[in-house]
Amino acid sequence: MKNISSYSFCQEGHIKKNSSDLQFVPESAPRHYSPDLTILCRDLDVNIHFKDLTSKKADVTAKITVSGMGSGSNEIRFNAKADSIKISQLKINNTIFNDYSIKNDKLIIHRSVKADETIEITVDYLLDYPKSGIYWIIPDPKRPQRPSQIWTQGESEEARYWLPCIDSPMQVYPTKFTVKVPNGFDVLSNGKLLEKIEEGDETVFVWYQDQPHPAYLITLCIGKFVFYEDAPIREEVPLRYFADKDQFSSDDLYRSFKETPQMIKFLSEKLNVDYAWAKYHQVVLEDFTGAMENTSATSWFWDSLLSKDESEIYPNPHITEEVNIHELAHQWFGDLVVIKHWASAYLKEGMVTYLTSCYLEEFYGKDVHFLDMYNNQEYYLKELKTRYARPIVHNKYNYSFDLFDDHTYPGGAWRFHMIRRIIGDKLWWKTLTQYLTVNRHKSVESMNFIKALDEISGINFREFFDDWVFSPGVPDLKIQYSFNNKTKTKLVVLNVEQSQAIMKTNKDDSVQFDYDKLFKLDFQIGWLDKDHVWHYERIHIPKQLSTAVSFPVAEEPLAIYINSNLDVLMEYKVKEFSTKMHKNLAEYGPDTLSRFLAIKELIKKEFVKESKFITKIIKKEADSCIQSFRKMIHEVGEIRSPLSFNILKSLIDEKRDKLPVVASVIPLLGKFQTEKALELLLSFTNHHNTALQNLAIRQLGSTQFSEKVFDLLKENVDKPSWNSKMAINAINSLGDLYEPISEIVWFLLDIAEQTKYHFNVRTNALQGIISHASMIDTGLKVKIIPRLEVLLSDPEDRISRKSASVLSNLKSFSSKPLIETMINTLSDGLQNQMRTVMENFGKDDQPTKELTQLRKEIFNVSKTNKELKEKLLKLETIVFSDKKGSDNQK
Ligand SMILES: [Zn+2]
Repeated sequence: MKNISSYSFCQEGHIKKNSSDLQFVPESAPRHYSPDLTILCRDLDVNIHFKDLTSKKADVTAKITVSGMGSGSNEIRFNAKADSIKISQLKINNTIFNDYSIKNDKLIIHRSVKADETIEITVDYLLDYPKSGIYWIIPDPKRPQRPSQIWTQGESEEARYWLPCIDSPMQVYPTKFTVKVPNGFDVLSNGKLLEKIEEGDETVFVWYQDQPHPAYLITLCIGKFVFYEDAPIREEVPLRYFADKDQFSSDDLYRSFKETPQMIKFLSEKLNVDYAWAKYHQVVLEDFTGAMENTSATSWFWDSLLSKDESEIYPNPHITEEVNIHELAHQWFGDLVVIKHWASAYLKEGMVTYLTSCYLEEFYGKDVHFLDMYNNQEYYLKELKTRYARPIVHNKYNYSFDLFDDHTYPGGAWRFHMIRRIIGDKLWWKTLTQYLTVNRHKSVESMNFIKALDEISGINFREFFDDWVFSPGVPDLKIQYSFNNKTKTKLVVLNVEQSQAIMKTNKDDSVQFDYDKLFKLDFQIGWLDKDHVWHYERIHIPKQLSTAVSFPVAEEPLAIYINSNLDVLMEYKVKEFSTKMHKNLAEYGPDTLSRFLAIKELIKKEFVKESKFITKIIKKEADSCIQSFRKMIHEVGEIRSPLSFNILKSLIDEKRDKLPVVASVIPLLGKFQTEKALELLLSFTNHHNTALQNLAIRQLGSTQFSEKVFDLLKENVDKPSWNSKMAINAINSLGDLYEPISEIVWFLLDIAEQTKYHFNVRTNALQGIISHASMIDTGLKVKIIPRLEVLLSDPEDRISRKSASVLSNLKSFSSKPLIETMINTLSDGLQNQMRTVMENFGKDDQPTKELTQLRKEIFNVSKTNKELKEKLLKLETIVFSDKKGSDNQK
C-alpha cells in the first residue's frame, strides 16, 4: 500500500555515531515468525447481508475449507476478533459443532485434522460494530454531499475484524463473496462478477476470485458509483475507474487515471508476465486514506482525483500518477507473488517503489528517474539519521504496520536499484521474470529473490544481502580530492574513508572501527575536460577503512561528478572542490541531478557572490526539467534573504504564463515574512486558476501579517472548492499564523466540532491547535480542554484520535483517563499508533506559566534574529555590488 503523507538502540539498530535515545522498537518488542503450516486454507466462501447501510451490522455466513498438512493438527485456529464476530452457529462438514472458543483475536475449534484430510467449516455470525477492517461511511444531514458507502481495508492484519480466516500473507486461497445490499447500490470486489440478481428491494452480487490470494488483499466496496470504461487490458479483461456518482464524473476519472493502459503495457512487457487477474478496477472511496493494491481492484484515497486546474499546474508526473503505477505494480509484486511475512515487506513495497522510478525513466526520461532516486535517498537517509537505523528485513516490532516506513519503501527501492546496476538492465528484467514465474501464487522471502538472482546472473548475492538488507546503515564517505601533475602521468587522486565504520577516535588519533559496517563499493566517476566533454572512470572501494584510488587524466578536470551513474546508495563529502568546479558542474553537468547538486553547493557556499550565475542556471532549468527546477528553487527559498526573494520574484515575473513554474515558486513565499512577499501572494488569491489560489492561501499564515490575512483565511474556509482543498489550505495556513492566538484557537476548535466539514478539514483544524500548543496560556487552556474532551468521543475515530493528540500536547493530565478509555475502543494497530500520544505526556512535568512565557520570548527573539539576519544580508548584497562596480572600473 502507499501512505500519502519516522527509538537505547536494539543491537542491530545501533549507529553509534548518531547516538541518540531513539530506536525502532523498545528492547521488549517481540520477534515475529510465520505460523506453522499444519492447516492449509483451500477456499473461503462468504455470504453477507447488509440489511441497511448505516447500522454497522451484517449477517454473515463464512464457509472455510481447510486441509491438514504435514503431521496434521490437534485443533483448528483462525484469526477472528471476538468483539465484532458474534457466532450463532458453527458446523463442521454440515454437522453442528459446539466445541470451540472465540477469545481476543482467535477462533479455536477443538477438532483434530489429519494430514491430507479436508473439512468444511461453516460459521454463522453477526458482524457487529467492527473496530477495523470494514468501514461504514454514513451520510450526515449537515454535509449533504457525503455519500453512503461501505469499504474494507485489510492490510496489514485487519481482515480478522470482520472475517474469520487465516490472516497471514503466507496462506493464499480463492475467495467468493455473495453480497446482498439494498437496490441502487453497487458492490465491487476481487475477481469476476458471476451474478447480479434483484430480489425484491435488494440486489445480490456474486464475486469470485478464482486465483489464490491472501486475506489482507480481500476488498469489498459498496456505494453508488460512476465509472469510466477504458480500453480493455485484453479480451474479457476490462479496465474501469470508479468514484461516487454524485460528486464526480467519468471525465474526472479519465483525467486522473488516463495513464493506466500505458502502465499495464509497460509492466507486462518489461516483466514479460501478463497482467494476471480477471479485470482491473480503480475505486476512489470516501474518507479512504492512502491507496491499496487489493487483487484486481485498487482502493484510492478520497482526494486522489485531480481538478482541471490542478492538472494544469502539475506537469506529469503527479502524485496520482505515481501512486497509480505503484499500486498497479503490486498486482505482480505482492499480489501474484505474495510475501511470506511482514518482515520482508520490502520485497513488495521496495520493489514497487523502484518500479515506479523505472516507469518514470521510461516515460519521462533519465533525468526524472535520477531525481526520483535522489529523493528516495533523501527520505530514507532522513529516517536513518533522525529516527532509527534498522535492517531492511526485520522481524522485531510491536505491530506489523510499523514496518511500512522509509526503510521499507525508498530504502528497499535503493537495494533493488543497486542490484540492477550490478547485473545490468537485461539480466535485471530477466531476473524479475524468473522470480515472478517460479513463485507465481506462492509466498516468498528474500531467499527466493536471491535464488532467482543467482540463477540468472551467476553472481553470488549473499554478501550483498548481508551488508545491505540484513544489516542496518549505509556508507558515509569522506573523500579528499587532489590532482597530481608532478608525475609523468597526470592523476586524479581520491582518498576515501568509510566514516560510518568509525566507532571511536583515540587520543593518539588512532581509530577503532567496526568491520561489519564496511562496504564493498563500485561506482562511476565523471570528469570534464577543457572541451566540455565528459569522461568516465569506475572506482572500486574494498571493505577497508580508507582507500586511495587514482585514475589518469589528460589535464586537470574542470569538474568532477561522484557516483555519476547513481550506482551506489551513499552519503559523501568531498574536501574540497573549488567554486569554479561547482560552477562547471552546474553549467555542463551531464544530467539534471548533477546540476542540482552543484547549485546546492554554490547556494550553501557562495550564494551572494554567485547569485547571478545561480539565477541563470535556474532559469534554464525551468524550461527543461520542472522537477529539478523545483528542487533548485527550494534551496534558494531556504536562504530567506531579500536577495533570494528577488530571485524567486523574478522567476514569477518572467514565467508568469508557465503555470507549473509559478506553482513551484508560490509555496516558497510565505516564510519571507515581508510586505513584498505578502503582496505577491495576495495577487494570486484571485487568480483564474483555483489550484494557484490554493497554493497562495496555504502560504498566507506563514507571513504573520495577521491584520491582513486572518479574516481572509477565515472567509476561505467556507468557500466551496474541489475536494474541500481551499478549506484545508486556509485551515493549515491558520495553523501557521501566531496571532491573535486566542481568536485563532477558538476558530479552529469551532471548525473541528462541526460535522458539516470533511473529516480532513476537521483534523487539520485540530493539527493547527497542536502547532499553537506551546503558546496557549493556562486561561485559554482550561476553557478549551472540556470541548476537546467531548471530541474524544466523536464518531469519526480520526477526530477522536487527533483530539487525544491535542490534549497530550496541551499536557492536559486530567484528560489522561478519558484518553485511555478512548484508546481502548480502537483496533490493535491504532492502539499501537496511539502509544506515542501517551508518551507525549512524558513525565508529570506540567509546564509552568514561566515556561509558556519563555516559549513566547524565544519566538520573539528568533523573529528579531531573523530580521537582523535579513538586514545583514541586505548590507552584504549592497557592499558586494559596490565592490563589483569598483572592480569593473579598474
Ligand atoms: Zn505499496
